[in-house]
Amino acid sequence: MNRRDWLKQAGLAGTALALLPGDLPGEASPPSRADLQTAITRLKLRHTWTTTMSSSQFRDTLHLRFTRDGITGLGEGAPIVRYHEDAAGARQTVESIREMLLAADPWQFQKVMAEIFRKIEGQFAAKAAIDLALMDWVGKKLGVPLYRLFGLDPNDAPLTTFSIGIDTPEATRQKVREAEPFPILKIKVGLDTDEETIAAVRSVTRKPLRVDANEGWTNKEEAVRKINWLETQGVEFVEQPMPAAMLEETRWVRKHVHLPLIADEACLNAAAVPRLVDAYDGVNVKLDKCGGVLAALRTLQVAQSLGMKTMLGCMVSSSVSVTAAAHLSPLVDYADLDGNLLVANDPFSGVQVHQGKLVLPNRPGLGVEASPPE
Ligand code: MG
Repeated sequence: MNRRDWLKQAGLAGTALALLPGDLPGEASPPSRADLQTAITRLKLRHTWTTTMSSSQFRDTLHLRFTRDGITGLGEGAPIVRYHEDAAGARQTVESIREMLLAADPWQFQKVMAEIFRKIEGQFAAKAAIDLALMDWVGKKLGVPLYRLFGLDPNDAPLTTFSIGIDTPEATRQKVREAEPFPILKIKVGLDTDEETIAAVRSVTRKPLRVDANEGWTNKEEAVRKINWLETQGVEFVEQPMPAAMLEETRWVRKHVHLPLIADEACLNAAAVPRLVDAYDGVNVKLDKCGGVLAALRTLQVAQSLGMKTMLGCMVSSSVSVTAAAHLSPLVDYADLDGNLLVANDPFSGVQVHQGKLVLPNRPGLGVEASPPE
């Protein structure tokens, strides 16, 4: 089956994704000329995905192809609603600096990204998509996987959790059964059904759990009560128990619990880390929050230099974005890199998960390929 037939079977024929250059004869860019293609990809979710913030059946992400000297770097950015981003805005942002990108020297990726960060406020998904495409290009040009470019050992890649979104007890039990190959689960809580959710999980498995409240608890005494109860349920840590803005309250909560607290919504990027030191034990870093691999590396290093635990997370996205994050995962204590596994029509494949362990591709750059036909 050729790619066009596969796209047709996958229901992607006729979408923007199917019309990327190189798919049609005569459309490929000549070597040495720079080319930039942007496309919005609709990723269908295996299950309706519910957290305290939203509920959805699909997600749109921005895909980007940057070609120079006959080499194409792939990038992806998954816009985060909480930061008022969407795929159309991300695409528009990239298009607004098209000429600058076409003229840029990808070898100067640090300089290019610094200029983009100075020029554009917010729009972290767009920045991430550009950063990923540049890093993929550089890795491919050098013939080395990204982890090697950063001096990391792929054998140090941690286990990833598999996330269970908020659902009815019966659906939660079903999702936990489906997550059988994963040794650690991440459970979304933050509503008044938390005890019911954990009870449903515990009726099916004794695996270690990590819990994400997504800013759901707004009363500090209630947060302490819930966290101390979660400790009795085999939970390892709690992510973002209270709203990001409630830093004082979170500091108080931390003094009254044993479980580590990890900042997610409270930790946008490296600049946010220093003021989190007393309130949280660690930070969850995501490419789409901070704006790419380089910004994620900075954030992880600031957190580590302040003695904090580190975690890499991701948004619902294709294997392009999740694989990019996975290349940095040998650096972190915890990984929650399952965003591609929640997608039914991932157009790409890259990082694999074997019994929960992240297995990094050893191909050059991100090491991501178009998904093989089913
Ligand atoms: Mg989170």
